[in-house]
Amino acid sequence: MNEHANTVLIVDDHALERKIIRKRLEKDYTILEAENGQEAIQIMSENRDEICVVLLDLIMPVMGGVAFLEERRRRGYMDTPVIVMTAEEQAEKDCLRLGATDFLSKPVNPDILMLRVKNVVNVGQIKLLEELRYLKDHDHRTRLYNAGRLNQEIRKRMRDFPDNRYTCIRMEIERYKVLSSFWVEEEISAFLLFVAEKIEESAKLLKKPIYGRVHADVFWILAEGDAASVEGFLNKLQKGVNKYDTENPIELAFGLYEVADTRMTPDAMFGRAGIALRKQLHHPGNNVGYYDETMEEELLREREIVSEMQAALDNGEFIPYFQPKYKLKDGMPYGSEALVRWNHPQKGLISPADFIPLFERNGFIHKLDLYMWEKVCSLLREWIDAGLNPAPVSVNISRVSMDNPEIVDVLIGLVQKYNIDPALLNLELTESAYMDRPDLMLDIIKRLQQAGFVLMMDDFGSGYSSLNTLKDIPVDVLKIDIDFLSSNLQGSKGERILASVIRMAAWLDLPVIVEGVENEAQKKFLEGVGCNFVQGYYYSRPMPLSQYESLLRTVKQTSA
Ligand code: C2E
Ligand code: CA
Ligand code: CA
Repeated sequence: MNEHANTVLIVDDHALERKIIRKRLEKDYTILEAENGQEAIQIMSENRDEICVVLLDLIMPVMGGVAFLEERRRRGYMDTPVIVMTAEEQAEKDCLRLGATDFLSKPVNPDILMLRVKNVVNVGQIKLLEELRYLKDHDHRTRLYNAGRLNQEIRKRMRDFPDNRYTCIRMEIERYKVLSSFWVEEEISAFLLFVAEKIEESAKLLKKPIYGRVHADVFWILAEGDAASVEGFLNKLQKGVNKYDTENPIELAFGLYEVADTRMTPDAMFGRAGIALRKQLHHPGNNVGYYDETMEEELLREREIVSEMQAALDNGEFIPYFQPKYKLKDGMPYGSEALVRWNHPQKGLISPADFIPLFERNGFIHKLDLYMWEKVCSLLREWIDAGLNPAPVSVNISRVSMDNPEIVDVLIGLVQKYNIDPALLNLELTESAYMDRPDLMLDIIKRLQQAGFVLMMDDFGSGYSSLNTLKDIPVDVLKIDIDFLSSNLQGSKGERILASVIRMAAWLDLPVIVEGVENEAQKKFLEGVGCNFVQGYYYSRPMPLSQYESLLRTVKQTSA
């Protein structure tokens, strides 16, 4: 029910009884009637928010009162109070056990009835207000503190005890996005609740802890003491969470920061813990990252980038490099991938690895991606006008850019503006973006394909999709990084997997581009398994625009 609920549901098979009760209550309440439990359940499923109390007869045909109470419990409708009207005191115990709120003996005295109803409704509303107040500063899934309350509590602690030592722990759940994309709401809640319970249990090992859930899979824990003093907690927590699924244990990732200055904001403290956590992610097999002074430099570097990025975009400091792709059979170049570089006036060329992850976190990637797409469209137009007959160029689409609900219209708008065939602008989408939100992706991919774009799944195999998911993914081209096999798996096993991915792609008529090809041996192997296109240093490194344009001219000459 909601806080304004004002409907009484009368459940009784005798029309006369219902009429008597209705007469007494209808001045103050809206009345709904049901002849048996089944009808009542139906009405509740539709009007539960409005109903402030149910008046329930016990003996009825079709579904009696006890069965109704059982069904109500099964469906989780427990927050709607029920007053049972009965002639037998015997039944009361059963009903109480099933969650009835109050009793009235039959025949019902109208004045007592009125009092009882008012009473139950009042109590219900007080409970509801308490609940609302509780939810204002507690997370509804885990019942831990939410972000607002956490901030408040941490600030207060720092103010009251500024001279103590503190350690901040930022905790995340590895692969949470992927895991949760396979779960329904109830499973997500059950899992988060399980994690919250383990945090509560393990936090007994901490000194004066404050903890809560900030959002999604991000939890903050503050404890007194140095970083070494929280290790027992971290171990116990990971062990506890392992029990959730013993066959596929869920890994936690921790970032630790020892508070240097208690006047910092909670955001600044846990921001540092977050940097430590992200650094740790580069070291597989180790799930705890510690913040140290060198990361302060990283923080400064990031701040510098953030202060410069917009001006850099306006000044044209972001430029595309082009890495040609080659047909494996004849070694001829066919199209390319546009890769961004930051041509910094003081620092020289900066690699995308140094700024893309940051831009994905602060949202600037939306602007940069759009800029690159437009840049490539305008170059394609220039090349066409110059009679160069360009092959397709692919651009990268960050997973974050996929959050833009207008992305399809934006891309269509660009190819229209420059009047180019959408098939010339290929779109590279990373596999993990797809696996995060398959339904949303499916819709966007289909609309882009209908508009004539060619969709490539980038980094296939580095994430979580199995061979099996291949058939459900509607992309046009598969890009596989050869590196993911050579680094993860030993020799022949990796090769066998790559060979079977390529074979399966061939069955599905999916062309494959293998990227990261660096040597003759890899090339030979790929020839043997029927790969279509290659991209890699062995053939060509990413090159500046002028060099790529020369290549376009020579290719045109040789093919003419
Ligand atoms: P990616 O899309 O997987 O691009 C391929 C990366 O592999 C490029 O790195 C390329 O230079 C590199 N590479 C190509 N051949 C070889 C090889 O034989 N060996 C090795 N070791 N590496 C090779 P780059 O240019 O540093 O780009 C890194 C990543 O940054 C890209 O990975 C892509 O995810 C992202 N990126 C680049 N430009 C953009 C952009 O305009 N927008 C977005 N959203 N992301 C971009
Ligand atoms: Ca790419
Ligand atoms: Ca790639």
